[in-house]
Amino acid sequence: MGEYKKPAPVPSIEAKPYWDALRQHRLLMQRCNGCRQYWFPPSTQCPNCLSTDFSWTPMSGRGKVFSYVVYHRVYHPGFANEVPYTVALVELEEGPRMISNIIGIAPDKVICDMPVEVVYEDIEGVATLPKFMPTSRPQR
Ligand code: ZN
Repeated sequence: MGEYKKPAPVPSIEAKPYWDALRQHRLLMQRCNGCRQYWFPPSTQCPNCLSTDFSWTPMSGRGKVFSYVVYHRVYHPGFANEVPYTVALVELEEGPRMISNIIGIAPDKVICDMPVEVVYEDIEGVATLPKFMPTSRPQR
């Protein structure tokens, strides 16, 4: 795919397990061992009960489009060949929401509450990014 020209993620210390898991095509998030809440983005404390006792937990990778925007303008030269593209807030089945791209579908076909599933985009020498594709799987 040539030289990677987009801004690369710079993992914080607390997010390292998240990025390491993505390289193995696994989506992990932190889950509080006290109140059992999941959260994202990674942090050292449960945002609900402030406990620091948590476990990195595999996620189903399934969710739905909570909201989205379609970018038609090029805000960074690395995206020049990709407009228009969809940036969405995806709500995972387990509750956490994450910002990602919806791929495999025209931006004007994306709708809120559309079921999606994680796919992994390997950027050689950079990172693996979680993206989402529409799925026909029935959701809860
Ligand atoms: Zn908690």
